[in-house]
Amino acid sequence: MAFSILVVDDNRLMRGMVARSVTLSGLPVSSLHEAGDGEQALALLRRQWVDLVLLDINMPVMDGETFLGQVRADARLRATLVVVVSTESSQPRIARLKALGAGFIHKPFTPESLVKAVQDLMAIGSGGAP
Ligand SMILES: [Mg+2]
Repeated sequence: MAFSILVVDDNRLMRGMVARSVTLSGLPVSSLHEAGDGEQALALLRRQWVDLVLLDINMPVMDGETFLGQVRADARLRATLVVVVSTESSQPRIARLKALGAGFIHKPFTPESLVKAVQDLMAIGSGGAP
């Protein structure tokens, strides 16, 4: 399986760094998309198949937490894999994101930690142990 991946971050340089980590991680990628906020990301998800979203939290227009809530509330988008990539350190907020089925890795992150987060999510999705 190759992943169609969407990188969502309001910082263009950060999007580039995340995209580079994806390339370095060795994850099989079929296509790589970018969005600058949650609203752009939702619009893109509604016209384009995406397997995995790498999501910033703090963004203008629509933040990552609101975006994730909208994805989970949409029957067609609900199953999308989401890994939050953030400097966020608020444990209640991280707990809320995980309760919505997202993985979480801290910026800056290694390609290996990205791969692990994706594998953990896929194991949960297929009924394996978290
Ligand atoms: Mg940001």
